[in-house]
Amino acid sequence: MTTKPSELHRLHNFCAGPAAMPTQVLAKAQSEMLDWQGKGLSIMEMSHRSSDYVGVAEMAEQKLRSLMQIPDDYKVLFLQGGASLQFSAIPLNLLMGGTGDYLTTGAWSGKAFKEAKRYAELGLGQVNEVATSKDSNFTTVPDRADWQLTPDAAYFHYCANETIHGVQITEPPQVAVPLVADMSSCILSAPIDVSKFGMIYAGSQKNIGPAGLVIVIIHESLLDRASQWCPTLLNYKHMAEKGSMSNTPATYSWYLAGLVFDWLQEQGGVEAIAKVNHQKAERLYAAIDNSDFYQNPVVKDYRSIMNVPFTLADASLDKLFLQQAEEAGLLNLKGHRDVGGMRASIYNAVSLESVEALIEFMQQFEKNHA
Ligand SMILES: *Cc1c(COP(=O)(O)O)cnc(C)c1O
Repeated sequence: MTTKPSELHRLHNFCAGPAAMPTQVLAKAQSEMLDWQGKGLSIMEMSHRSSDYVGVAEMAEQKLRSLMQIPDDYKVLFLQGGASLQFSAIPLNLLMGGTGDYLTTGAWSGKAFKEAKRYAELGLGQVNEVATSKDSNFTTVPDRADWQLTPDAAYFHYCANETIHGVQITEPPQVAVPLVADMSSCILSAPIDVSKFGMIYAGSQKNIGPAGLVIVIIHESLLDRASQWCPTLLNYKHMAEKGSMSNTPATYSWYLAGLVFDWLQEQGGVEAIAKVNHQKAERLYAAIDNSDFYQNPVVKDYRSIMNVPFTLADASLDKLFLQQAEEAGLLNLKGHRDVGGMRASIYNAVSLESVEALIEFMQQFEKNHA
């Protein structure tokens, strides 16, 4: 990889998604853009059935399997429609007349529950909200003792990292039924034990690559439960049998995901990047906690290491903060409209240097305006 990132005009990008990409990956994609490996055409111009492209796709899957140590009895699917379409695919594939248990800890798990409800209304089964932290404005996770679990539920769904509210559940909840986790904004950020899950899914545009893909990691035993009403393209068993190529997949995003997996391996893999991620998060939260000017509302045990929402003591300074941050090369810090204030998304591709630049800016801004 020849282009030196330091010579490029690349600013600090804290966007929640589509999010920052590793500069080396973009440079590699650029170098292969017109002529992929001497074939005289771009990878995005190739048939998804060609042996070259199938090789790229299969390699990407192997790299992900190796990074996450995915056991052999799990299928890995590269689908489309984003994480949001999985909110429908999950009940259509897994409800099977039973009950879907849902834990609501923020906007995304709330949306997943709401979508599943529609299928319950159609008669595909029941849904049960196990507990919600709505009363705390999603700043914590409901006490385990208060969860109203269904003993023989078809599955238990939760969101491991609430991207908007900045609430993370690090340890997989211990439940007796298949665990289904939305990991869109925390996949590959720290090691997890895949064998504890029935299914993990993640949209690509946070920690995996550009938008256009959703990755589904699912235990084989869950593949034959789909409702007869499940659309073919949402049917996990069908997509597993077709190697995620029942129809044309998002070929270029899939290729780029493979390059990001290479990059992550070069960084030392998931364990190594987790160390950096913890450092980034610890420093940013410490800067917030050590000041009366900034505040993060989330209960400490559940603070996300990927998405850090924060408010200014004087909200009338928000606009100025964002404007001056942008002038300092710190982009996309505006908080989600549901939460307000600011949010720094510090995914794998956001370096410790970027986080330090943000902290320095925050401290200077406080000095000027406190
Ligand atoms: C971004 C996000 C989604 C939605 O992803 P889309 O690709 O836009 O459908 C769902 N869940 C979580 C946790 C997210 O961060």
